[in-house]
Amino acid sequence: MVSNVAAYGIPVLILKEGTQRTVGRQALRSNILAARALGEVLKTSLGPRGLDKMLVDSFGDVTVTNDGATIVKEMEIQHPAAKLLVETAKAVDAEVGDGTTSVVVLASSLLEKAERLLDQNIHPTIIIEGYKKALDQALRILDEISIKIPVYGLETPEGFAKSKEELKKVLNSILASKYIATPDVMDKLIDMTVEAALIATERRGERYEVVLDNVKIEKKKGGSLLDSRLIRGVVLDKEVVHPGMPRRVSNAKIALLDAPLEIEKPEISAKINITSPEQIKAFLDEEARMLKDMVEKIAAVGANVVICQKGIDDVAQHFLAKKGILAVRRVKRSDMEKLERATGGRIVTSIRDLTEKDLGYAELVEERKVGNDKMVFVEGAKNPKAVTILLRGANDMILDETERSLNDGLHAVRNIIREPKIVAGGGAVEIELALRLRKIAESVGGKEQLAFQAFADAVEEIAAILASTAGMDVLDTIMNLRKNHAEGKVNAGIDVLNAKIVDNMTKLNVIDPVLVKKQVLKAAVEAATSLLKIDDVIGAAPKKEEKKGKEEGGETSKMPELD
Ligand code: ADP
Ligand code: MG
Repeated sequence: MVSNVAAYGIPVLILKEGTQRTVGRQALRSNILAARALGEVLKTSLGPRGLDKMLVDSFGDVTVTNDGATIVKEMEIQHPAAKLLVETAKAVDAEVGDGTTSVVVLASSLLEKAERLLDQNIHPTIIIEGYKKALDQALRILDEISIKIPVYGLETPEGFAKSKEELKKVLNSILASKYIATPDVMDKLIDMTVEAALIATERRGERYEVVLDNVKIEKKKGGSLLDSRLIRGVVLDKEVVHPGMPRRVSNAKIALLDAPLEIEKPEISAKINITSPEQIKAFLDEEARMLKDMVEKIAAVGANVVICQKGIDDVAQHFLAKKGILAVRRVKRSDMEKLERATGGRIVTSIRDLTEKDLGYAELVEERKVGNDKMVFVEGAKNPKAVTILLRGANDMILDETERSLNDGLHAVRNIIREPKIVAGGGAVEIELALRLRKIAESVGGKEQLAFQAFADAVEEIAAILASTAGMDVLDTIMNLRKNHAEGKVNAGIDVLNAKIVDNMTKLNVIDPVLVKKQVLKAAVEAATSLLKIDDVIGAAPKKEEKKGKEEGGETSKMPELD
């Protein structure tokens, strides 16, 4: 047992046996160490020359990737401080869909610089304050140096078309450095991405927001990427269940069911004693009657299309067909939710509760052939913001990779619509930030100034890492870049692919939405400062089963190593 406080000479026990605890500076140091270790792992993956990581999970499955988001998702992290960084990276990914490697590297760098200040006996609170002030300034500077992208009112066809042209140019730059495809494929994908994102955009007061929930990406093997299409509505990778049903329903009134059109088998095996053929018939008739009642109910509320998340029994299919209702079964939950949004209907979990109000609407529901398969198209849905990108491609690998870059593209458009500004990449923005922050630091008094400077150093580290991934002399490159920026070349950065410094990264198409940079800075400071605030780490004792596993020589997950 751990005795924590001695009251009147009697130890007071507040922690369970086996609990590990580290306090004060030691806790802080151990957290910094863990965070830095994670930063070290990720920094060689930064940028277009980032190296791959091979991740082996506990089942022995291997993933090879240099994508920060994938790395942090797959890594099995033990230390609580490193876990906190991973959570931060995941949050940034969810928010802006980019910047995951950068955020971990920057947070780790901020902590490394903080450690040096701790060595000089500067209190964590002062470092935290300095970092926060520097962050405020950095965000302000980003606003100053970013380049505006014109976005026009999207409600008019002209505004839509003009915005689309501008966004296509930006997206071309953003994806060009990430996704390799022939120019015609690239053009097609970018066109679809921007078009889909703008269709899915909703007005939020004074602003616009690309609502990604309105967009569905459906992959269908076969054909080429150039056969991919954009559909206003929802496309389901499903067939109409019964040959007797209509293939095409206009003015569709759609029942969205999360309930089986089947007689559910009892959970516990019940024994039914049947002693005569009449009894079997009666039993089956009863089942058929119940299914018929369900179908009657659906028809009675006025539905002419049924989209069901669960199964539909053959007998129920037959009755539905007789009523002229088009039905689709075993639809994915995520598709059901998309349909709910698109058609304005409501997913109903019990057929008994279905009412006319729950029905969704679409101008047309139709089964069509796509390649060798059939798919169901729900078009002209009540919500005109619903859109599907139907991707075609020769194999799963191409389809998956294209889907990933479509997602990158959709996020990029969303980020730019949220804040229509971009900055130069390749370390340009970081060098400029560092330069300007160092100037401001002079007016920040006291020890906080040191933290302010440390912040500038940490930001500059991103550029240094890019230089090193390009195989360039890091010190030389940074000095050179500093000089360029001091001379006013705000967009000078590192052409990583050709290992040289260029005057203007935007000309090279290396740009980032300002929102990503802001999010990376904010999240990294948040993570670093919250770790700097911790002076006590209390780890629970390992669970019993894990101890047992150890005795048997099996795999055990260890306690976080607290230094
Ligand atoms: P993250 O997970 O943080 O997005 P990336 O591996 O995507 O990490 O790297 C992003 C960084 O690489 C950004 O700073 C970006 O400006 C830079 N970058 C991307 N492409 C290039 C390029 N062709 N040349 C130089 N820098 C680049
Ligand atoms: Mg990236």
